[in-house]
Amino acid sequence: MMIFFIGGIIIFSIITIVCIFLLIRLSSKESQFMEVSNRYLKDIGKNYNRDKFAMAIYELYRDIIDGVQKERYEFLKDVLSDNIYNNYLREIKISKDRQIKNIVTDIKPVFSRLISLINKDGTEIAKVWMKISFIEYMLDMSPQTGSQEKIGNENRVIGGSKTRRFEKEYIITLVKRHTPKESVACPACGYITDIILRNQCIRCGSNIVNRKFHWVIIAKEDKPLSR
Ligand SMILES: [Zn+2]
Repeated sequence: MMIFFIGGIIIFSIITIVCIFLLIRLSSKESQFMEVSNRYLKDIGKNYNRDKFAMAIYELYRDIIDGVQKERYEFLKDVLSDNIYNNYLREIKISKDRQIKNIVTDIKPVFSRLISLINKDGTEIAKVWMKISFIEYMLDMSPQTGSQEKIGNENRVIGGSKTRRFEKEYIITLVKRHTPKESVACPACGYITDIILRNQCIRCGSNIVNRKFHWVIIAKEDKPLSR
């Protein structure tokens, strides 16, 4: 009788351990995403590989962070959904009201991965998982009295750090209309530009396609840092 009892406990323990092990494996997989294959991109008619695309999206995001600080409203409106654009506008306004300026600088990619690209009823939807590292600090922009002015900008840092690097991870979702050809001739100079994401002619800088036909960010989700 005792044998059966001990045997039962041992079997129960083994099952419990296996279940816990499976659960841990499952949950750790959930925080990882598969990259799309280059073969797949070729099959759906893309002339770029996943690394080129993912890096272009990273550069777009970096330009957006820069654009927010330099208040390049026209550029931001062109590459962001109305919702995200309005959120950035609100942030800029809040900072101005509080007389502070948020500085994000020296942005570097830790990685940028294309994890999904599909064509749904003529709309292409892409998801990019990226991790960036950057320097972030906050400056006091309130008017200075004469004696304070001599101290200069160095002592006006009121948050963040000029030396410590921060890291953040996002899942960025982008959309554009599907077109069979993504090489477009510039209406101004005729130069042919591949519009992976840019609306501007490489040679003369003119806008070459309508907003619908280049990638626009419609969602940006913060993701817990993966290790
Ligand atoms: Zn041009």
